[in-house]
Amino acid sequence: LLQIEDVYKQYGDKQVLDNIDLSVRKGEFCTVVGPSGCGKSTLLRLILGQEQPTSGKVEIAGAPALLPDLSRGIVYQRYSLFPNRTVLDNVMLGKTLTQGQWWNPWYRNKAHEEEAMAMLAQVRLADAARKYPHELSGGMQQRVAIAQALIMKPPILLMDEPFGALDPDTRADLQVHLLELWEKEQLTVFFVTHDMHEACLLGTRLLVLSQYYSDDRGDRHFAGRGGKIVADHPLPKVAT
Ligand code: ATP
Ligand code: MG
Repeated sequence: LLQIEDVYKQYGDKQVLDNIDLSVRKGEFCTVVGPSGCGKSTLLRLILGQEQPTSGKVEIAGAPALLPDLSRGIVYQRYSLFPNRTVLDNVMLGKTLTQGQWWNPWYRNKAHEEEAMAMLAQVRLADAARKYPHELSGGMQQRVAIAQALIMKPPILLMDEPFGALDPDTRADLQVHLLELWEKEQLTVFFVTHDMHEACLLGTRLLVLSQYYSDDRGDRHFAGRGGKIVADHPLPKVAT
């Protein structure tokens, strides 16, 4: 489904990603861990098509990754929601943007509203449709962000530390919820986290991105040439 070949990314003369080769099949739940600054978010931007690699190719289902296709198929740590719009409007964001109507206060679309309500039911927030983001807890806001991403039916759901700002209980709750959604909706997920426990709990496959390389003697060095995939392990599926 996702094919990354020989990808390098530089900003000016700073190399951020070094020779990334990766292929993700439909239905996989890839978790990505790695030290801060090794290029995880940059990799997500390349998959999203927001940025182009300096060299190499990023393809989704055989076509180059492009922003309109995947737009909003991503959940960030926070700030995915517009504070002055209702939860329902926020879930419809991608649809409304695609119609060029986000700034039109009179725009209504029944079909989109019904779809958004169905998505909210999926994340168990149907009651919150008319509320504003600040009226919801952090965990609920992240559920809205997941609904906002899923309504676009992205080929891959991209997540950048989506639960990083949540307290441990809420986080555990959302982890289980995401696993249920993944299983029920047969999602393909690409999930960046700093939490190794979370990565092992959720993933069917664990990727480690790092700027540290081992030499022929097995000693580890900081190469500073940009992150590359230094480990790629299958994980047993967790029982839900
Ligand atoms: P974190 O775990 O802290 O989120 P990360 O692995 O997501 O880190 P990136 O945000 O991908 O790291 O950044 C990788 C490197 O690229 C960093 O050194 C960063 O300073 C640099 N970088 C990222 N975006 C840009 C940009 N637009 N212009 C210049 N340098 C950038
Ligand atoms: Mg990041």
